[in-house]
Amino acid sequence: MAIGEVGLDRGREGGDISMQEKFFREAIRLASSKHLSLVVHSRNSGREAIRVLLDENPDVPIDMHAYDGKSSSAAEAARLGVFFSIPPSLLRSEEKIALARKLPIENLLLESDAPALGPRPGERNEPANLLLTLKKLSEIKHETIESLGDALTQNAKRFLSGKL
Ligand SMILES: [Zn+2]
Repeated sequence: MAIGEVGLDRGREGGDISMQEKFFREAIRLASSKHLSLVVHSRNSGREAIRVLLDENPDVPIDMHAYDGKSSSAAEAARLGVFFSIPPSLLRSEEKIALARKLPIENLLLESDAPALGPRPGERNEPANLLLTLKKLSEIKHETIESLGDALTQNAKRFLSGKL
């Protein structure tokens, strides 16, 4: 089980960022005390969200969902075991391709939500598109769809276990 989405949003709807950080920290502590995994939302604030997470250092698995920050910051977090869920916009975004290339398979999940991050611009995303992401990811990682699908399923189970 997991708590989420929680995190930081520097988009139009985000509001006061210091207030957001306060609630984000509280959510991280709650997840840690209840042994629940964390699904983290970050919009234009990936590096900041990672900084807060590393500072709080919760004792539970973390997924950075719809991450839009730099792949170098992501790689740093991945070394500490943080997951990144890859959305179907992988089919059209050089940034997402760079992110998927940079991160090890053991840190990847498939994103089933993120309405704006579908395979085609302007089209609402849906969970069925997860298979398109898997196919594209298998090309990027030079893996068969079957073996990559198995590996990502194991990652999802590890993430949802609530245990590191
Ligand atoms: Zn989100």
